[in-house]
Amino acid sequence: TPGKAPTGKTDSKAAGMNPYVGLVSSLRAAWLTGKTRTAEHRVSQLEALGRFLDDKKQPILDAMASDMRKPRLEAELSEVMLVKNEVNYALNNLSSWMKDEFVVKNLVTQLDTAFIRKEPHGVVLIIGPWNYPLHLILVPLVGAIAAGNCVIIKPSEISSSAEKLVAEVLPSYLDKDCFAVVTGGPVETTQLLENKFDYIFFTGNPQVGKIVMAAAATHLTPLTLELGGKNPCYVADESDMQNVANRLVWGRCFNAGQTCVAPDYVLCSAETQEKLLPALRHAITQFFGPDPRESPDFARIISDKQFQRIRALLGSGRVAIGGQTDEKERYIAPTVLVDVQPSEPAMQEEIFGPVLPIVTVPNVDEAIAFINSRERPLVVYVFAADSKLVHRVLERTSSGGFGANDPIMQMTLLSLPFGGIGNSGLGSYHGKFSFDTFSHHRACLLRSMGLETMNSLRYPPYSERKMGL
Ligand code: NAD
Repeated sequence: TPGKAPTGKTDSKAAGMNPYVGLVSSLRAAWLTGKTRTAEHRVSQLEALGRFLDDKKQPILDAMASDMRKPRLEAELSEVMLVKNEVNYALNNLSSWMKDEFVVKNLVTQLDTAFIRKEPHGVVLIIGPWNYPLHLILVPLVGAIAAGNCVIIKPSEISSSAEKLVAEVLPSYLDKDCFAVVTGGPVETTQLLENKFDYIFFTGNPQVGKIVMAAAATHLTPLTLELGGKNPCYVADESDMQNVANRLVWGRCFNAGQTCVAPDYVLCSAETQEKLLPALRHAITQFFGPDPRESPDFARIISDKQFQRIRALLGSGRVAIGGQTDEKERYIAPTVLVDVQPSEPAMQEEIFGPVLPIVTVPNVDEAIAFINSRERPLVVYVFAADSKLVHRVLERTSSGGFGANDPIMQMTLLSLPFGGIGNSGLGSYHGKFSFDTFSHHRACLLRSMGLETMNSLRYPPYSERKMGL
């Protein structure tokens, strides 16, 4: 139909019951030709992805503006620049990543060759969420291409402008035999997941992560799960409150809080809360003016469903700053909640919006106990001038990543793995970690046919003399 993005479905009657059988088998056939394994093919596809980002920067920014009024700078940084960095990093390092890794040998294998070969998994499925709809499918795609796989990409249906752009434009840059885009929501994804893939890379919420993992289990398909959760942020008493507030407001309000690594809630003493509140109010006014609704630098909530969900969270505790909403625009003001009980909704579910609850705790040990009483988060943050205190929190908590004195920035380093633990995810990627995630590390031992006398010692019959060796 004109104006409708391609769906990736084939005629379900011709292909059997599942509409994606044809697509998956055509990618499998392409994979079996070995074409994606060559360095030339990988380089050409990475370069093509880089060209897509350059040529289509404006349409990407327009799609982000249309889906959630994502401010231009935020869109450019998160959806274009960070992806471009990954592309360039992979291009610069690909030849060394692809090399066989020769390993230490034991006495018996001294004359042989032992190495790890980084092999592509085969046909990979990448499923993305709506909050950074380009970034979170293209950064995994960089790793999948670099590692030599064929890929089906399933962007989120919720960020519909981004989905349309990816489905209509991206395939024209890539080798169509090896890379395809499938559109649609849970129904289509469920059907897609009935097919056998060699690897699945999923980003989304933990509930859907369980569904994806169960589907992967039916084929024993390995997978990465990049999930969400509540990222705690402990603020120590002797901090520079205005700096802390600036960084917290930036981290919480970037993309209107729809960021998986955003600080989800603050833990601090009652005295610190008193000092932090005016600093947070000041930062919000500095960044977004007296009425953040008028600011061009503050995004909107992606959907009515998400808007209703976040608005309901404003009933937890007491609104100390902000709290204004506008359903028509899906606007929720930067908001700070105080006196929130741990059992209230704002402290039970991931906020994923511009709302920051503060929970008071008497000291750092109570904060650590609070963090450890909950699911393991994607990130634990701590703001403290005292590095001993930072290390105390680092050593006594567990999370996918850790950030001291600044939110989000840890995920911009390609030298750090990005991923969760427990409820926040399984596996990691970025930079070389992406290449390794999308590669099978094949253990290879190429033995010589010589030294048979020595080898014959292991053959039956097992004489007493052999046992004594
Ligand atoms: P989601 O889990 O609802 O959707 C993700 C993808 O799964 C979409 O493509 C969607 O079409 C598909 N899907 C949804 N329901 C499905 C079902 N029942 N069966 C099969 N497929 C289904 O997630 P979302 O709302 O798009 O994204 C928000 C969540 O993602 C938050 O929890 C956030 O923390 C998390 N997230 C994590 C990271 C990370 O890197 N760890 C990054 C961004 C977002």
